[in-house]
Amino acid sequence: MAIEQTLILIKPDGLIKSLTGNVISRLSEAKLTIMGAKVVRVSRDLAEKHYEHLREKPFFEELLNYIMGDVHKTYRVLALVYQGEDAITKIRDVVGETDPEKANPVSIRGAYGRVTRAGVFENVVHASSSPEDAEKEIKLWFMPDEIVEDLYPIKKITLNNVKQTVWA
Ligand code: UDP
Ligand code: MG
Repeated sequence: MAIEQTLILIKPDGLIKSLTGNVISRLSEAKLTIMGAKVVRVSRDLAEKHYEHLREKPFFEELLNYIMGDVHKTYRVLALVYQGEDAITKIRDVVGETDPEKANPVSIRGAYGRVTRAGVFENVVHASSSPEDAEKEIKLWFMPDEIVEDLYPIKKITLNNVKQTVWA
């Protein structure tokens, strides 16, 4: 048993379908601690970095359009950081398999996801799949000051005479 962190994103389909409350209720079943939360307008640069591992896939452009909000015309994502024992597995269990048609119907993706005609899995939420991915993703989506504890090493820098705290 290890204390882990995980990044959850409620994707634009989740927001447009008013699933935010339901998803957060379901996530709370994992009995973890919330460490950060914010609404983000996803830039192309952020989307490309987040889905770097899928760059070569035929659905990559569609996937970027989906996470940026172009598909649902709602340009926002709710980003959450949770921490606790075995957080990654616990959350992935509640979230369900990547393909909503294969996901357990009682999981979030099984209950609310769908597969589009373009073949993209609109699966409502993202959840980190390993501690390494979680660290990379949390550092990408959040600045240290936006999380209630320093989950990873930080450093203080001065940019244009303004002091800032960034991930070390
Ligand atoms: N995805 C898709 N088709 C695929 C694989 C992935 O549309 O065959 C999308 C889906 O929205 C998924 C995201 O790309 O959530 C990231 O894929 P990954 O393999 O990392 O799955 P996840 O970790 O989200 O379960
Ligand atoms: Mg993944």
